[in-house]
Amino acid sequence: MRAVRHVEQLAAYALADLGGQRRTLAQNESAYPPSPLAIAAGHAALENAALYPDPDWTELRAAIAAQHGLDPATILCGTGSMDLISCTIRAFAGPGREVLAPRYGYLFAATATAQADATYVTVDEARGMVDVDGLLRAVTPATAMVFLCNPGNPTGTRIPSREILRLRDGLPASVLLVVDQAYGEFDDQDHRAVFGLVARGDTVVLRTFSKAYGLAGVRIGWGVFPPEVGREVRKLQNSNDVTVIALAMAAAAMRDQLHMRDVVARTAATRAIFAEGLTAAGYAVLPSHTNFVMVRLADRGEADRAHAALLGAGLIARQLGGYGLADSLRITIGLPEEMQAALAVLTGLAPR
Ligand SMILES: *Cc1c(COP(=O)(O)O)cnc(C)c1O
Repeated sequence: MRAVRHVEQLAAYALADLGGQRRTLAQNESAYPPSPLAIAAGHAALENAALYPDPDWTELRAAIAAQHGLDPATILCGTGSMDLISCTIRAFAGPGREVLAPRYGYLFAATATAQADATYVTVDEARGMVDVDGLLRAVTPATAMVFLCNPGNPTGTRIPSREILRLRDGLPASVLLVVDQAYGEFDDQDHRAVFGLVARGDTVVLRTFSKAYGLAGVRIGWGVFPPEVGREVRKLQNSNDVTVIALAMAAAAMRDQLHMRDVVARTAATRAIFAEGLTAAGYAVLPSHTNFVMVRLADRGEADRAHAALLGAGLIARQLGGYGLADSLRITIGLPEEMQAALAVLTGLAPR
């Protein structure tokens, strides 16, 4: 039996090595449960499980639009923003077309590009910061899309909104700019100008409920699309994929901004203590605007040693060999006591 060629050439799906644990510091999940209002809405939605979900996501779109000052017609929802990333790349990239991204961009964009039989091209970053000029220099006639995660994963760094505007201004109008703001809620800069780029017709902004809203398990994301871009992306989405439970929980979560803000504030406070502790112990920590930190060690051996030591304490960090960063670890910000434990382990191995 033969699959089509570009599928045969994809790497086999690798199981995440999570040591059989449910909660880890490897997947950037929220340390806190979702809003109690979201949980109540999810319970209530179970009563409607016999019916297919609203394929137009009406209630959720309205909640997102009201909160962010957007036109509901520009919003698409998906089974996680991964669904929207995948459908957008499939719609606008393909054989002979290139997706351009920073060197340490989101790995799933590379996977989705390979699934679409398109070519993924990366541009170097200096000290984990996206290089807008480098991206602009790398554009070729084959460039169909620039995929930019801001704040970045796995780096956690961010570039200012005005840099995104400068990137957009420098790109040909035929190149679709996709700004993945999966960690946008943790980034305290003003995002209105970036959302405003969508009106130009050549930019997409993606968000998710998986991180700050604590809904990773129900698989729900959203994005703002120019109408003519969204129309193509939607052709590739399976209708009815977003469940009644996800729709109800996400709408209630969006309406409970207080809960989300509280989660973000607690996470940022824990992150500051953790990062300061690591820095004091001699570790190189990238400045983070997300719910994780990236720690750079001396080399791969040191990174493996730190990973193993954390594992010994029941803490699973993310190794970054797949990103070409085998000398680094990405550590999700968990509960204060988990980060205290992680800090104690790493301080015990301190580089100096
Ligand atoms: C977590 C994450 C997502 C969100 O994925 P979902 O499918 O919404 O869970 C998207 N982009 C980046 C960079 C992420 O880290």
